[in-house]
Amino acid sequence: MAPYDVLIAGGGNLGLWTAYTLALRGFGRIAVCERGWAGGGATSRSAGVVRQQGGSETAVKLGRLSRELYLRLGEKLGLDSGFIETGYYIVAETEEEKEGFLRLVEVRREAGVDNEWIEPDEGRRRFPDLNWDRFVGATYTPDDGYVHPPIAARNVTYAAVRSEAVDLFEMCEVRDIEHIGERFSVRTTRGTFEAEKVVNAGGPRGARNVGAMVGLDVPVMAVRHQVVTFPTLAEGSSHPFPLFFAVGKGYYVRPEEEGAALGLSNPVDEADTSGRYQIDFDWDYYEEMRPDWESAFPALKDLSVSRVWAASIDYTPDHLPIIDEPMEGFYVLAAGGHGMMWGPALGYKMAELVEEGGVTDLPGDEIDLGRFTRERDPNRMQDTIALPFPKK
Ligand SMILES: Cc1cc2nc3c(=O)[nH]c(=O)nc-3n(C[C@H](O)[C@H](O)[C@H](O)COP(=O)(O)OP(=O)(O)OC[C@H]3O[C@@H](n4cnc5c(N)ncnc54)[C@H](O)[C@@H]3O)c2cc1C
Repeated sequence: MAPYDVLIAGGGNLGLWTAYTLALRGFGRIAVCERGWAGGGATSRSAGVVRQQGGSETAVKLGRLSRELYLRLGEKLGLDSGFIETGYYIVAETEEEKEGFLRLVEVRREAGVDNEWIEPDEGRRRFPDLNWDRFVGATYTPDDGYVHPPIAARNVTYAAVRSEAVDLFEMCEVRDIEHIGERFSVRTTRGTFEAEKVVNAGGPRGARNVGAMVGLDVPVMAVRHQVVTFPTLAEGSSHPFPLFFAVGKGYYVRPEEEGAALGLSNPVDEADTSGRYQIDFDWDYYEEMRPDWESAFPALKDLSVSRVWAASIDYTPDHLPIIDEPMEGFYVLAAGGHGMMWGPALGYKMAELVEEGGVTDLPGDEIDLGRFTRERDPNRMQDTIALPFPKK
């Protein structure tokens, strides 16, 4: 087999967007080696929330660019983009939370995102089905929303493979990587590939292993995240409704067909080392938290469920992504648990790094791999708008 210019290990949202963007740039021949099916990992199991209301400049910029890229790709393919714009409230339950949120409104506005602080009285007028007595207010962005993950995966897979530059190999597990001279020799279950450059986009169930193949510690871990769908809403509730995220409680709700989807993470869950994408659904935690979301959003009260699933979500120690070239020709790309809201932008930035040798418009010390071993800058803002991921 002739050598590839770039081999991407992992065909999830990140690997596929990287392949597609490299092809758009005309960057040589690209192989995507995917252990299972394209998009079949965390990507297709996700809830698809796309929010520009990040908790740091990096997060905001990645969310904004990703939303744009999803829409642009849909238009280009003449297919639906899968993005549904609903508006999004991130609710604050305490004065302390409110203070932090107000600072973030400024960060987001500076990054070009339409973001405002909503007092409860105004909230009641705009979104009366939410129980604003529970909250001291919320930040709001009108053009946030969500993608249907299967459509997002379909579009980017189709966009990548229709380019002559991209070869997608499914059922192709990367087992070993050797750096020989100027090239990498990549041993897979479908033979050995030669490539000038390798991008590690192995996600929650691969990035760490693929990194270890070249002696790198890539701190991408996996933990349980659960999603529940309800076929309808309680009688009298308005539909569709805007998304909302109770960050302090670790759950969010969005519309799903005529009903709703709710995602939740248990703060006491630890890293899951089973290696599986499928994880046991924690019904006890679901029942424990149910009174909370039923009081916050009575439209979900006493509903039956249509589907539940629990799967491995990726996380990094600071909830931020990794976009780096820690050794010559070997790149690491990871989403820090936000690969649907940031995936297109991460692919775009990785393609930039591969072709141009640098990433523009993002602070280097928030995206490099080295930050996890450097002493932490005490002035650096912690990204607080994230699910409760484990500490380790
Ligand atoms: C239940 C749930 C809900 C979520 N909801 C959201 C959400 O609302 N919004 C959001 O932004 N994010 C959400 N996420 C997170 C999001 O799904 C991930 O951040 C994103 O999918 C990561 O994309 P990825 O390409 O890095 O990983 P993946 O989609 O997991 O892709 C990595 C791929 O690499 C392959 N692979 C691994 N090792 C190898 C190897 N050695 N050789 C070849 N292939 C390999 C895997 O098979 C996999 O297909 C959610 C996740 C879960 C589990």
